[in-house]
Amino acid sequence: MRILLTGGAGFIGSYLSESLLNDGHIVTVIDNLSTGSRDNIAQLENNERFKFVEGDILDRELMLKFVRECDCIYHLAAAVGVKYVLDNQLGSLITNVRGTEIVLDLAHVFKKKVFFASSSEVYGKNGGLKSFKETDDRILGAVNISRWGYAFSKGFDEFLAVAYHRSRGLPVVVGRLFNICGPKQSASYGMVIPRFIQQALKNEPITVYGDGKQVRSFMYISDAVVAIKAIMDKKEAQGEVFNIGSCQSISIADLALNIKTLSNSSSQICFVPYAEAYDNNFEDMFYRVPDISKIENIIGQFSKLKLDEMIKEIINHYRGN
Ligand code: UDP
Repeated sequence: MRILLTGGAGFIGSYLSESLLNDGHIVTVIDNLSTGSRDNIAQLENNERFKFVEGDILDRELMLKFVRECDCIYHLAAAVGVKYVLDNQLGSLITNVRGTEIVLDLAHVFKKKVFFASSSEVYGKNGGLKSFKETDDRILGAVNISRWGYAFSKGFDEFLAVAYHRSRGLPVVVGRLFNICGPKQSASYGMVIPRFIQQALKNEPITVYGDGKQVRSFMYISDAVVAIKAIMDKKEAQGEVFNIGSCQSISIADLALNIKTLSNSSSQICFVPYAEAYDNNFEDMFYRVPDISKIENIIGQFSKLKLDEMIKEIINHYRGN
C-alpha cells in the first residue's frame, strides 16, 4: 500500500514509518520539522520506498497532491509536549484544528482511510482514581488556563473525525495516545521520561513538578506502533475512538526514584512548583491511566513492555549501547 504519514519525522511517526516500511509498504512522510527532525528518519531515507516531503498540513494544495496519490493516511502531525504547546499556543491550535480539517476533508474527497492520533489530554482533569474509558466525561478547565486549549482542539478533531464518518462515511479510526515513550523522544518539549533520564545520567537534580503524586502510565513506542497499525486494519474500528496506552501506573515521584535507581545516579530528586516549571496559570491532571479493554477486545493484548524494562531500554539508548 502507499501510505501517507503526516508528522512522520516526529518521535512516534518515525517509528511508525519504519515499521510500515518493514511491512513492505511505500511510505510518504509530510512534516514541517517543527518538533520532528530529519535525524529521526535518517536511516529511512536510503529506502527507495520512503519519501520525505518537508511541508505543512496547512498547505491544502500540497496535501491534496499527496492524499490523492496514497491509499491510506496516518495523521499524526500536531504540536507535541506540554511545554511546547504552552510556548506555541496559537500555532498549536491552528495546526490541530485547521490542519486536521484539511486532512479529513481531503481524505473524504479522495475516499482514503485515516488513522487520527488524538491524545489522552482530551480527558482533561476528570478527577478521581479511575482509569479512563472512552465514554467517560471530559472535564476541561477555563480558557485562561492555556493547557486546556490543546485538549479542546484535539477533542474538536475527534468530533470532526466521528462526524465525517457518520455523515459522510469516511473510514476513520481515532486513537487516544497515553504517554508514549522510547529512544529518540526529545526532552526539549517537556516530556518527563527523557527529561528524568537525561538528568539522572548527568547526575543533575531530577525535577519533579508539583508534589509528584500525580499519576501517569507509560507505553513503549514499539507496543504503540503495533496497536496503531492493528486497529487501523480493523473494519469494526471505523468511526470509533480507542484508548492506546498501558494500564501500569506510577506516580511521578516514584518514576523519578525508579529512574535514579535504574541508572545508578547520584542525582537529588527535587520538587519544583508548577508555577516555576510552567506558569502561574498551570493545571496538571492528577490521574491519567487508560482502560484499554475496548481496543483489546478487537486487537488482543498489545501492551507488553513493563515500565522498568522501558526505562532500561531508554537508558541504554542514551548510553549509546
Ligand atoms: N513532569 C515533571 N518533571 C519534568 C517534566 C514533567 O515532574 O521535568 C511531570 C508533569 O508535570 C506531569 C508528568 O510529569 O505531571 C508527565 O508530564 P509529560 O509532560 O511527560 O506528559 P503529560 O502527561 O503531562 O502530558
